[in-house]
Amino acid sequence: MERALALVVLFVSGCGVAIGCGGNGKEDPARATAWEEARARMVREQLAGRDITDDRVLDAMARVPRHELVPEYVRAEAYRDGPLPIGEGQTISQPYIVAAMSQAVALDGSERVLEVGTGSGYQAAVLAHLAREVYTIELEPTLAARAKADLERLGYTNVETRTGDGYAGWPEAAPFDAIVVTAAPDHVPDALVDQLAPGGRLVIPVGPRNSVQHLLLIEKTADGVVRKNLMPVTFVPLRRDPDD
Ligand code: SAH
Repeated sequence: MERALALVVLFVSGCGVAIGCGGNGKEDPARATAWEEARARMVREQLAGRDITDDRVLDAMARVPRHELVPEYVRAEAYRDGPLPIGEGQTISQPYIVAAMSQAVALDGSERVLEVGTGSGYQAAVLAHLAREVYTIELEPTLAARAKADLERLGYTNVETRTGDGYAGWPEAAPFDAIVVTAAPDHVPDALVDQLAPGGRLVIPVGPRNSVQHLLLIEKTADGVVRKNLMPVTFVPLRRDPDD
């Protein structure tokens, strides 16, 4: 009986090095350690080595398994210093940009946050470690379904996903303490500013398609809306519909 049980356990949790375990979370220990080391190096060199100083952001970036959220064929590059394709012509941002946007909205763990542009679900997972509740909206149904399944598989219970147009925000769940937009419109959508709570922060890339855009931090203060230009960036466009 004991042997039978042990075999069952082996069968369920075992995963050969040669075949790997690609994304089901049951990797062999050596491979899991290698991913953790790659992630720790990413945090050290690409984030702490630049201007990411918020310990909670560094900790969240050290926890989220980016390699579990990117397509199999780019998994080996998950922790490199650049963006990666995630299918449907879309990309996941460079780790540094994800960390910089997360740091810019200054979260302490008590917030309700909206993300526009779920994509792979990676930024949403990082925000899930930093805030109380995360709402994330994606225009492309295939990506939305995959991210929802992946976030559930990885055990994120404080993330709500929705397929829809982020230009309109998520009015039923507003107001938000922070909004993170990960695709670039050519102007700041009014609905997003409207859905910010007093004191709320919106970080958003704004500018023309296929060109340099500006990452803006917009704060809703008692004296009105304050804008700060953080850095030049290049994001995929915030689209009006999936065929756009
Ligand atoms: N945050 C993502 C990367 C986003 S790429 C991650 O961590 O992986 C930008 C995403 O925005 C794409 O998936 C794209 O389909 C989506 N998108 C584009 N226009 C949109 C819109 N109007 N509403 C919601 N999502 C949109």
